[in-house]
Amino acid sequence: MYDVIVIGAGIVGTCVARELSKYDLKVLILEKENDVADGTTKANSAIVHSGYDAKPNSAKARFNVEGNKMMEDLCRKLDVPFKRVGSLTIALDEEDMSTLEEMYDRGIQNRVPDMRIIDREELLAMEPNISPKAVGALYAPTAGIMGPWELAIALAENAMDNGVELSLNSEVKHIEKIDGGYRVSTDDRDIDTRYVVNCAGLYADKVHNMIASPEFEITPRRGQYFLLDKSAGDTVSSVIFQCPTKISKGVVVLPTVHGNLLVGPDAENIDDKENKGTTDERLKYVKETASKSCNKIPFNATITSFSGLRASPDTGDFIIKEVDGLKGFIDVAGIESPGLTASPAIGKYVVELLKDIDGDFKENKDFNPHRKEVINFMDLSQEEKHEMIKKDPRYGRIICRCENITEGEIVDAIHRNAGGRTIDGIKRRVRAGMGRCQGGFCQPRVIEILARELGIDVTEVVKDGLNSNIAIGETKEQI
Ligand SMILES: Cc1cc2nc3c(=O)[nH]c(=O)nc-3n(C[C@H](O)[C@H](O)[C@H](O)COP(=O)(O)OP(=O)(O)OC[C@H]3O[C@@H](n4cnc5c(N)ncnc54)[C@H](O)[C@@H]3O)c2cc1C
Repeated sequence: MYDVIVIGAGIVGTCVARELSKYDLKVLILEKENDVADGTTKANSAIVHSGYDAKPNSAKARFNVEGNKMMEDLCRKLDVPFKRVGSLTIALDEEDMSTLEEMYDRGIQNRVPDMRIIDREELLAMEPNISPKAVGALYAPTAGIMGPWELAIALAENAMDNGVELSLNSEVKHIEKIDGGYRVSTDDRDIDTRYVVNCAGLYADKVHNMIASPEFEITPRRGQYFLLDKSAGDTVSSVIFQCPTKISKGVVVLPTVHGNLLVGPDAENIDDKENKGTTDERLKYVKETASKSCNKIPFNATITSFSGLRASPDTGDFIIKEVDGLKGFIDVAGIESPGLTASPAIGKYVVELLKDIDGDFKENKDFNPHRKEVINFMDLSQEEKHEMIKKDPRYGRIICRCENITEGEIVDAIHRNAGGRTIDGIKRRVRAGMGRCQGGFCQPRVIEILARELGIDVTEVVKDGLNSNIAIGETKEQI
């Protein structure tokens, strides 16, 4: 019997799992997709919010501000990119200025440190490419940017290094109460556990309803983006927000931790929890709206567009609690923005909840908070590069020309705990295929490396989900 089953390997499930790995517990993560971080965690703005947005005394406000404080240290321990670049919410007229005052007051109530309202001159000195119409801004220096899927992958890897098990392609279909816990069923297994943590993102309502009567509903709220080439990366140096609307924080312009420029998202309630498409109409809206805060965005440097789905709850706030009458069944639901920022604090809180329920969690004395070092070959000095290639010549072969990623880095990413076993999995771990050509050059090489390292045929290598095979046979082969 497991002590805890965590359902869902997004940023929230992996934060919970890593936190649980600090204790002597048998923990299993069940994930329905073919990789970790394959849900909302792979498509969002990647902002570590400072915390002035959420309603005072809400769970969002509490976990946002706490998570922001924890994020830098967590990213450092797990070798994940993080930059505290600060955010500027800009006012385009006097009415916006009074909104900024309200946001500042809310920030004070939420205990956001070091915010201040700045005037036009200071704003333009900080961000010369901002719209000349801007009249001022709310500056929040504690805001940052990070790598969301990189963090979830690193959390899963570190949790596994510390004893947690991960089962991919394991969709939870049924849950029942048994003596001393729960029986959680996938298509091919029934697994018994004392406790369950429901971190199923967009499907957290469905998972809750497998064992309890409906209490909340999750609506997918889609947001679409442009990702621009690194040549546009210095258009702005911090996160540029507009004054928020009722359902969205507005269209944002920001640098990414890898030096690209990200523009988006819009906010659109949809019905289909799997619809991650983009549309001309919404992208046009994103472009026009973003141009109001920054009219020098070189959209001709766009390398891709994409969308993400917020798991928006009808309660209006994060739902993090033990389900009434179900001992040790914890819902972690409705984790929309600022869920990424809040995730380290949510993970810690969920484990505190379980400790209160159980009272007998023993420390894992062997817990290692650090991840095995990740080599970013291009960040090494000339001498270090020579040494690395001498030790392993695969570090001397560049596979992704846009992002300068070596074969050595790809092989390492495949063989780690929670390693990349798919083309997109490699892309998310080492950025091969993330650059200007979006994998046009390196994809066939990545397929070959995956096939060789996993001991499978190239036709068995998938892009992301099961059955997303790319190669179907030899060219000119008689089928
Ligand atoms: C457009 C957009 C912009 C955002 N911007 C920001 C931002 O800048 N800053 C910020 O802090 N937050 C932001 N967020 C919010 C943030 O991305 C989410 O809060 C966070 O990623 C949610 O993580 P999660 O683990 O709850 O969900 P997910 O990443 O979706 O993970 C849930 C997992 O559960 C799995 N699952 C579902 N059902 C089952 C089942 N039955 N069995 C097994 N597994 C199952 C799914 O496959 C999935 O992998 C944004 C979100 C969006 C969409």
